[in-house]
Amino acid sequence: MQYTEIMVRYGELSTKGKNRRSFIMRLAQNVRNALGEFPNLKIQADRDRMHILLNGEDSRLVFPKLKKVFGIQNFSPSIRVEKNLDALEQMTHQIMQEIYTGKETFKITAKRSDHTFELDSHGLQQFLGDAVIDIFPEIKAQMKRPDINLRVEIRQDAAYLSYETIKGAGGLPVGTSGRGMLMLSGGIDSPVAGYLAMKRGVEIEAVHFASPPYTSEQALQKAKDLTEKLTPYVGGIQFIEVPFTEIQEEIKKRSPQGYWMTLTRRMMLRLTDAIREMRHGLVIINGESLGQVASQTLHSMVAINEVTTTPIIRPVVTMDKTEIIELAEKIDTFELAIQPFEDCCTIFAPPQPKTRPKLEKVLELEERFDIEGLMARCLAGIKIEEITPAQAERAEEFADLL
Ligand code: ATP
Ligand code: MG
Repeated sequence: MQYTEIMVRYGELSTKGKNRRSFIMRLAQNVRNALGEFPNLKIQADRDRMHILLNGEDSRLVFPKLKKVFGIQNFSPSIRVEKNLDALEQMTHQIMQEIYTGKETFKITAKRSDHTFELDSHGLQQFLGDAVIDIFPEIKAQMKRPDINLRVEIRQDAAYLSYETIKGAGGLPVGTSGRGMLMLSGGIDSPVAGYLAMKRGVEIEAVHFASPPYTSEQALQKAKDLTEKLTPYVGGIQFIEVPFTEIQEEIKKRSPQGYWMTLTRRMMLRLTDAIREMRHGLVIINGESLGQVASQTLHSMVAINEVTTTPIIRPVVTMDKTEIIELAEKIDTFELAIQPFEDCCTIFAPPQPKTRPKLEKVLELEERFDIEGLMARCLAGIKIEEITPAQAERAEEFADLL
């Protein structure tokens, strides 16, 4: 079917009172970014709906991209016809001939915003219902949960017909909740945490700690590739590479093994917080999951978290590993995440990290370090690059739509 436009229904933003306008503007911007590769699209965001005029672009290529934009409840591709009964009847016939296989029940739902149109919505439903029965006399009409719901809308400019509703990503438009720094390792959990934060409207920037030559170029590339997997939800993500070698060597040299992990995590958090401030972020997001490893016991969290009062969002903190993996598979980060490249934590992982690090002991150990100097040198070396979605379309993405 040659669609002319996609009608987009907003998600939760309808409940947001006076913020509604800025929510809609942001959503429109995110849709524009996500659909940037289709130059002919025209996007019109109104108070209640968004209309994407296809202008000849292939709707099947647009759907998978649109399905990833948060803040959309669902969308319906529709066909524009002239505002007269002949044209409506003809298109209704054409659609039904294409989709009716002899088994489905149907219903016509009409809506009229142009009140000068010759039939009101009830009359239209009657008229088009009869038109369907004319060509398929055996078809059953059903008001509740019909298999085919053919919608017709009479607007000022034209009439629109649609029969499909495609589920959107839900959530809130990315950016409407403010900005947060995602601590992104090369593991399974942190990309999922980033995805979930974006789902609730947080614009993320990825902060990745690398310790060359102990960590490889591939490990860095893996973190960038994981970031790329998160870009379709927003368009582009800033990737911030933090040189962590000197700090890790210092920690290893000057402290007992049992405390390496706690000291390392505290430095990571301090640095992320400093970067957050530079980048005007409001919160930090990480992929900690309670009890998963030594650094993620409640005692460890307390000892690590002590370096900042900035809120730390931990979207996967209460999830089981299997639940996290399910989401990682859904967003296609799992396969990448399990590739075995050592990251800075695995390389410096002590054989027996403390699961109950003592804060007084940590503070005492930290006196051996020139924390300010280490941080300043580290921050002077950060590299920032924007990661954008890969151009290659993934076949399976639209296979599930067809
Ligand atoms: P993930 O948690 O992403 O699966 P992981 O299990 O290897 O990776 P952990 O050791 O569990 O990582 O670390 C807990 C959290 O600390 C990570 O989820 C991530 O947010 C942060 N983190 C760990 N290592 C790094 C790193 N090299 N760069 C940025 N953040 C990191
Ligand atoms: Mg983890």
